[in-house]
Amino acid sequence: MISLRERVSYLKGLAEGLALDTASREGKLLNQIVSILSDLAEEVDKLREAQQDLQEYVSALDESVGELEEDYYGGEGEDDEEEDDEEEGYIEVECPKCHEKVYFEEDMLDDDVVTEITCPQCGEVVFSTADEGEDEEGDEEAPSIPAED
Ligand SMILES: [Zn+2]
Repeated sequence: MISLRERVSYLKGLAEGLALDTASREGKLLNQIVSILSDLAEEVDKLREAQQDLQEYVSALDESVGELEEDYYGGEGEDDEEEDDEEEGYIEVECPKCHEKVYFEEDMLDDDVVTEITCPQCGEVVFSTADEGEDEEGDEEAPSIPAED
């Protein structure tokens, strides 16, 4: 691909080849245009170079920060979080008896039915919906009736 600069200098050559009458209005205009274009082409080239330097610097910086982050956080932080997200809807309980980790779906718990989750290893009840709120309220006979008036 021909650079902007090269194209402008070709244009300059063409203008010179025409032997423009620089005293005429058209000649002045064309000369100005060519001169401005050549300045612009130079500016654009400079900017492109500066931009490239900056890009290289930023990506080097980004790499350094990435390495620092890995050192600082131990590198596995992000992965762990992603795993947690995937397991949403699951509840993890540790068996008090054998310390086996027991997983079950949150959906398995129904407000109306007493559900007990037992440890597959030793059979110990690791989770029960029965103990919820019993200690504080104590009145099992009257499940809260919404007061409608
Ligand atoms: Zn157990």
